[in-house]
Amino acid sequence: MAAPADETGSRNAPVPRPVAAAGDGTPPAVRVRGLVKSYAGVPAVRGIDLDIRRGEIFALLGPNGAGKTTTVEILEGYRSRDGGEVSVLGYDPGRQRKPLKSRIGIVLQSTGVERYLTVRETVSMYAACYPSPRAVDEVIGLVGLADRGNVRVIKLSGGQQRRLEVAIALVGDPELLFLDEPTTGFDPSARHEAWDLVKNLAELGKTVLLTTHYMDEAQFLADRVAVIAAGTIVAEGPPQTLADRDKTAVRIRYDLPPGVAPPPGLGERVSGGTVEFTPDDFTQGLYRLSGWAVAQDIRLDGLEVIRPSLEDVYLGLTSPGPEGGGPGGGSQPGGRP
Ligand code: ATP
Repeated sequence: MAAPADETGSRNAPVPRPVAAAGDGTPPAVRVRGLVKSYAGVPAVRGIDLDIRRGEIFALLGPNGAGKTTTVEILEGYRSRDGGEVSVLGYDPGRQRKPLKSRIGIVLQSTGVERYLTVRETVSMYAACYPSPRAVDEVIGLVGLADRGNVRVIKLSGGQQRRLEVAIALVGDPELLFLDEPTTGFDPSARHEAWDLVKNLAELGKTVLLTTHYMDEAQFLADRVAVIAAGTIVAEGPPQTLADRDKTAVRIRYDLPPGVAPPPGLGERVSGGTVEFTPDDFTQGLYRLSGWAVAQDIRLDGLEVIRPSLEDVYLGLTSPGPEGGGPGGGSQPGGRP
């Protein structure tokens, strides 16, 4: 993401609290209507509407330059807007930044934490900034650094430093956490640990708004996602059903031994021994195929049922040109090999 904004001052780490759960009738944690922002006359955000429920993990997805950082920084109160209505925890971040600041937590990709303090000293220092901080050791334990409390920041791994940044964001007991690409540069096991940590935050009743370029991360973590392209939201919903992904026809793919022709109506060879088809009813198609294979005593090696992944959907929505739903496009995505 772009560097932190500085229009309205520096972005320290975070802050304080209540807890709320998603539910009918509860005011959303974030409500945005018709948000617009231009830089030197060039539109970056072109009329975004957004509702993020309390207790929800919400992911903003979009290509570089789509407008994610601009949107998030307006919500955080670190960037001004040109128009539209914005309410974050009931505050207008453009005019009520001070009270809002004490109720949100922000985890940037990297923060300037003093490298020669220990983990406990660092979290204690931030805790002292808040009227009702969480207990320092509790927070350190929450982010999985209990055995690192006396270790200097400089000696932490990249993943542990990110955990410390989350601890700093949590110590003021915020209601809403902003996570900026929380696992960029992590190895696979560190990523999974970070995901567990984010899930734990949601279990504490926190609302989480994260930006990410990783579709598996959004798929795993987010209750809902919004895809931004060229400053507008082009799709929004649960990752499982985004852009009717769950209703898109599935393809069936399988391999046949040399010399064996595919059964009529159950596919054509696409390369080598690989056969593909898209049945009207995939349960029926699978039933007919497996029945035929059993009768012929043929193993269906490499059998796959292929649905479009979140990444397929995302690419379909954001790729430019007539095929994409992004700038200049509009079609629905399909599955890719
Ligand atoms: P990334 O994934 O690369 O972080 P993003 O979706 O966060 O991208 P933004 O950083 O919000 O996108 O940028 C949206 C558009 O606004 C881009 O065209 C960018 O060049 C432009 N922009 C962002 N900040 C400024 C600024 N301070 N001055 C001028 N233009 C800016």
